[in-house]
Amino acid sequence: MKSTRVTTFALICLAAGALLSAQQKAGPAPGETLSESYRGSQSRNVEYQKIAPFKVMDNLYYVGPGSVSVWLIPTTQGLILIDTAQEPYVDTVIDNIKKVGFDPKNIKYILLSHGHLDHFGGAAKIQALSGARVALSAADWDFMATQGAAQAAAGRGPKEGDAPPKRDMVLKEGDTVKLGDTQLKVYIMPGHTPGSVTYEFTAYDNKKPYKALVFGGPGPRNGVQGGTEFLASVQRLEKDFTDVQVAVNVHSYLNSYPYPNDSGILERRDMKAKSPNGPNPFIDNATWRLWLKQAHEGAVKYIADEKAKAEKAKTN
Ligand SMILES: [Zn+2]
Repeated sequence: MKSTRVTTFALICLAAGALLSAQQKAGPAPGETLSESYRGSQSRNVEYQKIAPFKVMDNLYYVGPGSVSVWLIPTTQGLILIDTAQEPYVDTVIDNIKKVGFDPKNIKYILLSHGHLDHFGGAAKIQALSGARVALSAADWDFMATQGAAQAAAGRGPKEGDAPPKRDMVLKEGDTVKLGDTQLKVYIMPGHTPGSVTYEFTAYDNKKPYKALVFGGPGPRNGVQGGTEFLASVQRLEKDFTDVQVAVNVHSYLNSYPYPNDSGILERRDMKAKSPNGPNPFIDNATWRLWLKQAHEGAVKYIADEKAKAEKAKTN
């Protein structure tokens, strides 16, 4: 009897040890930053992706999984959600909203950055539980409707929960979304998708206002045409938005620059936790400007590469 107990105990220890080492192994691969690991080596590690939510500014919380940002903006009249992530992370998003002290039923607007599944996948479910309006540009409402077929063509679907929300609120250039004490200005900045949306709002840190921007189409796609549109969008940012102080990025790994250690959103989260009374690492205009420069150079190179590809296809 005693030896059975000892054996059982030993087995439990062994199992716990194996589990622990599996968890310890889950982390950035060599050469990857923490934020990058969520789209890189750990992109399919569902448990790893389910990160705890965290506060970024007085009125801005990160409630998404590790790879895809979902932003919560509480206002005096309810909640605004920017993007929704997709399954199997939608319940994590809903739980994360509760964990930071808010009721998901109180979401009034789901503002989508663009019509890719990883950003809109949870919209229908979150709309059903909250009655929120779902908003996107006309071009990306159309584009989003094609994404089921695109997934199927890529051999990835359609999967349960992939259905886009029903066409609801259509955003136009220059619109303002107002809720309680909060306003978001809307700009259409294509290139990543035909109608990626950029949102400008005021984020507060210890009640001090800062210019925050969600650039909804974070990188060039769709060949020469998309690249050219993307470059125009970046040039618009360079002209009118060099003063952005809080880059509300749609992926945690964007904006990974040496500030001071290859800082994406999750590195900044950790910096903030380490010195809660120090300067807020999410307020960082210098990195935004650096990002603009790199995005511009990246767009020029992307267009050149895509042109070369098209030429090669012609001669073949
Ligand atoms: Zn996308």
